[in-house]
Amino acid sequence: MRRPKRPRLPRQGKPDAVLEALLAFRKERDWEQFHKPKDLAISLVLEAAELLEEFQWKTDAEVAGHLKDKGRKRVEEELADLAIYLKLLAHDLGIDLDEAMRKKIEKNRKKYPVEKSRGTAKKYTNL
Ligand SMILES: [Mg+2]
Repeated sequence: MRRPKRPRLPRQGKPDAVLEALLAFRKERDWEQFHKPKDLAISLVLEAAELLEEFQWKTDAEVAGHLKDKGRKRVEEELADLAIYLKLLAHDLGIDLDEAMRKKIEKNRKKYPVEKSRGTAKKYTNL
């Protein structure tokens, strides 16, 4: 039996609307010169740390309360920062992020077969 065809997403060279806006924002400010892959990767990790600050030292109940209050906006903004650096880095390296994620999902399906991994958080090496 043939598997159903998966929808194809735009390939590299056809940036999405958000990426187009990011590239325009960067170009208008002449910031390409600062966006070396190393610096984008560093920025990605720094933004991930800012996201972690929203959860640090909080119990599960405190996190839940925080996310219903002002923390939700902060988390939203940190996720946006992360996505922005991720999209720019992938674009600059010529990596189609959607395709890369598709490949990774396939790889993870093989590493974590449902019959072995369902309901457990074990690493694939310990399944
Ligand atoms: Mg931030």
